[in-house]
Amino acid sequence: MTIESQDDGEGRYLGDRRLSELMTVPVPPTTPEEQERHRIYCYLLLYLLNEHWNPYKYGCEGEYPWAEGTNARRSTYLGHNIAAIAVSPTGRIVDFDFNHNELFNSSAEHAEARLLRRLFALGKQFAERLDREYIEEEFNKMQSGIELDPTAGSETHHKWWYRSENTMSRTHFGRTLARITIYTSLESCAQCSGMMALGAVEKVVYLQADPGQNHIGAILFNLNGGNTAFKSPLPVPASEYGVAEYTALSHAYSKYLKQIQSSRVKSFYKMGDENILPSSSLTTFLCTSAAKKILQSAAYKFSREKEYPVGLPFPLGSRLQYGDWQPSPTALTNREVWGAAELFAQGTLRYGRRGTPHRS
Ligand SMILES: [Zn+2]
Repeated sequence: MTIESQDDGEGRYLGDRRLSELMTVPVPPTTPEEQERHRIYCYLLLYLLNEHWNPYKYGCEGEYPWAEGTNARRSTYLGHNIAAIAVSPTGRIVDFDFNHNELFNSSAEHAEARLLRRLFALGKQFAERLDREYIEEEFNKMQSGIELDPTAGSETHHKWWYRSENTMSRTHFGRTLARITIYTSLESCAQCSGMMALGAVEKVVYLQADPGQNHIGAILFNLNGGNTAFKSPLPVPASEYGVAEYTALSHAYSKYLKQIQSSRVKSFYKMGDENILPSSSLTTFLCTSAAKKILQSAAYKFSREKEYPVGLPFPLGSRLQYGDWQPSPTALTNREVWGAAELFAQGTLRYGRRGTPHRS
């Protein structure tokens, strides 16, 4: 099929499909059990963001009127307040990363891109984290000729690689991340969506829409289906899983855009004679106290579950509604996921800082 743009007066087309159709992806219905599980990962991500939040985009010195009232530690701005985590099919949290554009003087060091590059590199290390039963299940599948999950444990993984070396082309790496779910705090760009397609990531859940990305995740999902060489992840806004912060962040950003249009807008940054006005950039919005407030209350839901006020919709913790639920016999239950998320949060704060705690 030749892909070309045309307009029949009723809308623009790409190939034989209307663009407006390509820009939306209906999310398949999910059960309340599954939604609860997704919320745990979403709130873990919000918690990590809150802990590492840094509004000092132009350095530690100087004033930041839009971040007043927040108590972030003054430290070097290494990148934007955007993070991502990867979750295996059994529910294990494999890894996380932050945006590090500033650290590397690059506009491409996005949280998802950094995370995906490491997932490819980790290969069997992250596979080893998966449980024994799952390995055996996969091994049995291998023997019966069923396609394997390459994120299974090391023994199977080793054999899978071995078999692949002998029987498949080198392009089998294109399935390496199949069945991985990425949770990202901001809707993915073309680069990161492209990388996810190259690894055949199953799903990407995002906590905030990025109007600047032109629905690229949805477009790729719709185009890369059927018999195409690449498979793009299903893009899912976290609101589908009952994460209220999705709407809160979106509203706060719209409000911010209105506020900065005022003729008496306050500076974003002041230092001596230097006076920088706020920009419409979403990453600038993420440096404001309005954004921080949302992250902080989400982090509270994640970490202080026992003290969470009665009567409010309860996202997590000891009052999980579906704690015993597990999507497959070898997967973690929701309660185990919650426990693992809590441990992961503690571990990353202690050892991982804004990047991976993995050492190899
Ligand atoms: Zn990106």
